[in-house]
Amino acid sequence: MAEHIGTTCVQGGYRPGDAEPRQVPIYQSTTWKYDTSEHMGKLFDLEESGYFYTRLQNPTNDAVAAKICELEGGTAAMLTSSGQAANFFAIFNIAGCGDHVVASSAIYGGTYNLLAHTMRRMGLECTFVAPDCTDEELEAAFRLNTKAVFGETIANPALAVLDIERFAAAAHAHGVPLIVDNTFPTPVNCRPIEWGANIVTHSTTKYMDGHGAAVGGAIVDAGTFDWNAHADKFPGLTTPDVSYHGVVYTERFGLEGAFITKATSQLMRDFGCIQSPQNAFLLNLGLESLHVRMPQHCKNGQAVAEFLQQHPKISFVRYPGLPGDAYHELAQKYLPQGGCGVVSFGFNGGRAAAEQFMKSLRLAQIATHVADARTCCLHPANATHRQMNDEELVACGITPDMVRLSCGIESTEDLIADIAQALDTI
Ligand SMILES: *Cc1c(COP(=O)(O)O)cnc(C)c1O
Repeated sequence: MAEHIGTTCVQGGYRPGDAEPRQVPIYQSTTWKYDTSEHMGKLFDLEESGYFYTRLQNPTNDAVAAKICELEGGTAAMLTSSGQAANFFAIFNIAGCGDHVVASSAIYGGTYNLLAHTMRRMGLECTFVAPDCTDEELEAAFRLNTKAVFGETIANPALAVLDIERFAAAAHAHGVPLIVDNTFPTPVNCRPIEWGANIVTHSTTKYMDGHGAAVGGAIVDAGTFDWNAHADKFPGLTTPDVSYHGVVYTERFGLEGAFITKATSQLMRDFGCIQSPQNAFLLNLGLESLHVRMPQHCKNGQAVAEFLQQHPKISFVRYPGLPGDAYHELAQKYLPQGGCGVVSFGFNGGRAAAEQFMKSLRLAQIATHVADARTCCLHPANATHRQMNDEELVACGITPDMVRLSCGIESTEDLIADIAQALDTI
């Protein structure tokens, strides 16, 4: 039955049987008991699916992952402890020491650090390209040992929109998958798999939870990348895994299951970045209203962006929904119903004006967060992107006076009034 996305938000992933709990049960248990050690042995050999230890898998998490999988139109999915863990796993599952990835330079600061510094110490190199680079620049970024291309549908906080089809075509021409972090639009506003992305990641901490209640992440596999056709590049998926009794993931689990099974059985086993089932339960409550909340976030984002754009104290506004925005055309293509509630802008008065503005807001509160029901704001150069020098900041599309305002789902009029009074104090 082809259902609409709102129905999947509410009912996806978990369909109770006769006399079963209506709400997804929280399996608050580290372990599962078995009658025979032979039975348990089969689980360890991945010959049978089942649960034995929550560091690897938990039924609550799997029900919520299944909902996110349905929302994105994938074939398999998993939850992780955070968005950082999701992006790390998605990349490290197919690229390690001696390998290389191509990434958009307009990405979340944490992901930039992960790729530019931490994964580099693990022997993985990354070439960053501007999201609006030329085809020649994109082409030149690839190497023989490139294993993946990475980007964000809407970059946090630069608000650049990724041309998913173009990046997917370049990745596929080089025999590697495109990984897209779809945190900001959520599948309600964009489904990257429909545009050629092979792996989709999320910080569920943001709109999916939506209430600032639980840190979490998710990885969805589209099942569309043919690992066997590029077997030399992806031996981890296409040759026996010595750490798992010689299982060949693509043979045993098919293209639809290989990627997520490998990430679960190797990376979850060894790194243990599991989401707690309590948090998965909270995430699921958030998902139930995602399709109702996203339009209000977008409505507020659009109204605030339009208000700021005509204000004399504002030097620039970035919001892909604004006609004239550098990414407006791409937004119309990939995000026809709106993108997200996050608006970035700068001040004629520079950094000092930004700080004064933030101090004066009453409804909008200063928080290292975006994308929850309550409006919040952040000064990236002072917070998330603090580790970067000015050159790196500019490459990420950030200026020292830039404020990122994440419009919540409050009444539009009140948000505008709050912003207007804060601007009056400058
Ligand atoms: C917040 C964020 C992350 C990191 O997620 P956490 O849940 O904070 O670990 C990754 N990507 C994007 C686009 C984000 O906004």
